[in-house]
Amino acid sequence: MTRLRKLVALFLVPADNPDLVQSQLAALCKQLPLLYLLLTMNAALLAITHMGSAPPVLTIYLPVSLSLLCLVRAAHWVRQASEPASNEEAVRLLRLTIRLTPVMGVGFAAWACSLYPYGDAYARCHVAFYMAITVISCIFCLIHLRGAALLLTIAVVVPFSLFFGFSQNPAIQAMVINLILVTFGMIYMLQRNYADFADLVNSRRELFERQAETQRLSDENFQIANIDSLTQLPNRRRFLAELDLQLAAASQQGARLAVALIDLDGFKGVNDMHGHAAGDRLLTEVGDRLRAIAGPAISVARLGGDEFGVILKGNPSPATVAAFGHDLCARLRGPYLRPEIDAEVCGSAGLAAYPDDGETASALFERADYALYSAKETRSGEAVIFSPTHEAVIRRSSQIDQAMRHADLAGEFWMAYQPFVEVGSHRVLGFEALARWACPGQGQLGPDVFIPVAERLRRIGPLTEALLARALREAAVLPAPLRIAFNLSARDLAAPETMAAIRGIIATSSVAPSRIDLEINETAMLRDFGQVEETLGLLRQMGVRITLDDFGTGFSSLSHVHRLKPDKIKIDRSFVAEIHASHAARDIVRTVVDLCSTLRLDCVVEGVETEAQSRVLTALGCRVMQGYLFGRPMHAAAMARYLADAKVPEPRAAAI
Ligand code: C2E
Ligand code: CA
Ligand code: CA
Repeated sequence: MTRLRKLVALFLVPADNPDLVQSQLAALCKQLPLLYLLLTMNAALLAITHMGSAPPVLTIYLPVSLSLLCLVRAAHWVRQASEPASNEEAVRLLRLTIRLTPVMGVGFAAWACSLYPYGDAYARCHVAFYMAITVISCIFCLIHLRGAALLLTIAVVVPFSLFFGFSQNPAIQAMVINLILVTFGMIYMLQRNYADFADLVNSRRELFERQAETQRLSDENFQIANIDSLTQLPNRRRFLAELDLQLAAASQQGARLAVALIDLDGFKGVNDMHGHAAGDRLLTEVGDRLRAIAGPAISVARLGGDEFGVILKGNPSPATVAAFGHDLCARLRGPYLRPEIDAEVCGSAGLAAYPDDGETASALFERADYALYSAKETRSGEAVIFSPTHEAVIRRSSQIDQAMRHADLAGEFWMAYQPFVEVGSHRVLGFEALARWACPGQGQLGPDVFIPVAERLRRIGPLTEALLARALREAAVLPAPLRIAFNLSARDLAAPETMAAIRGIIATSSVAPSRIDLEINETAMLRDFGQVEETLGLLRQMGVRITLDDFGTGFSSLSHVHRLKPDKIKIDRSFVAEIHASHAARDIVRTVVDLCSTLRLDCVVEGVETEAQSRVLTALGCRVMQGYLFGRPMHAAAMARYLADAKVPEPRAAAI
């Protein structure tokens, strides 16, 4: 059964293998016109040799009809070569060819055999030769369509052998044997060749499939490397590459270009309150809103977290950039995640333009980032365009950075001293040392400007040491028991070598450690509480006292007071500024004063500027105060005069 099926399969078109079918069709398109041409020419030659001897129906009408049929088929195949065929069409054509081949073979063979009786011995040989040579060449031409080649062999060689095998001519009989032998050889060759051809087609298909797989993997890699998987927008890497590309194009065309960086306001709240899934959906919605404006002149990307970037191409004018920024923020303004959550989120944007604000991708990025930072600080949910004012601030800040790197810490910095007083007894209790920097090229700078710079550039340790040494040297003129207060940076507390140096400076100073207050604020505690406790413990062992500065702002917590056990708490000046206007400020001051009295801590309130404030504070229970009302920060040399003239305003009872 399987043998029979295998045998039948030899004559079938491999319809389940479209690649093989298409390859067969392509091969036939090239070979069959040649086959039909050979048939026509050979038939013409055979007809000519029998002209006159055989009737016209055999020498003219029949061969001309057969030849016309051949030419029609040849023309069909030539046309087919230039027209792609569907798989069904190709299968249909191949099946038709398989069916037509034996019919034509029998037709030509019958015609040739019918000429045989009319010719002489040579002409008879010609008939036999014609049939043999023509069938061989036709089998060759059909080598890629095995079924057709086999059927042709059977349809021509079998009748040929029977017809000529019974002739009395031994030469012709020998020719029959020759043809049968050659036919066997050819069938063998045909079988092998067809198998090789099918293998070749299959391996080519596998190669294509492998190539397609490689391409798919490389597309996937490209996708992973360049596309943000959540929003399906280009990612940071793609954005930067695109920016480089667009900058090169803009510089070539002398065109302008703008970069916008966007940061969401309110995203963190959604993430914290509603979970990461909601956060992800929010980001996807933002991505969709931005994608809606993307086009040939606008590229959009997610740069990471809740940060997005946009490139505005097409030579935009400054007015267009401003309008674009405005439109961008309007689009991003909430609400999101409706109807379940209805999150009110907006996006701040910073924009910078090429070539005005920067000529390289990194310069533009930096400027846009600066504008974004400024938007977030001052105009949340709005767009800020980088301006010459920003440029001046950046330049100044980089000059300050530069100056800090090379600063002469002992020579350029000096200390101002501000008194703190006990209001009831009119006594000056001591001075707080406040650092100042006579910065070359920048004038006098306050600590709010330069302390963060020193921290960032890691010069805070040496600076603190230089300032403390100077403060203790200058405070040596203060009579006991006046105290000297000095501010430490949170970074100092986290640096064991700085703290060791500080202990060394205090130990060798002529001011007794028991007269020294070190002021720290709560940011120090947020780092490594254990280490801070240990560091402060060592100082306390020397007799130094610790003040918790800026109390009430930021992260004030009772657990800090409990664990740190400071000697003094300093109520932040922001409460004093609001003391008249705000009930809450008064309540907080009263609570802290009560807390200090319960825990037996000293309490000082800073930033007292007016007598009215001083009266209210006194009524709230504050005894020790610091502020412009009692004395502005002064040079070291001015302290002695201040002490001589010290007049502390008498507080009157105040109704709160
Ligand atoms: P702070 O410790 O809160 O210092 C008090 C600040 O309030 C000082 O500003 C002082 O000039 C200002 N001030 C005093 N009285 C009044 C007043 O009545 N009204 C107003 N509006 N302000 C008043 P300054 O000198 O600019 O110092 C700012 C901050 O810099 C200080 O805040 C302190 O945290 C830090 N700082 C000062 N000197 C040093 C230092 O040597 N090292 C470290 N690490 N930080 C320092
Ligand atoms: Ca202070
Ligand atoms: Ca303070």
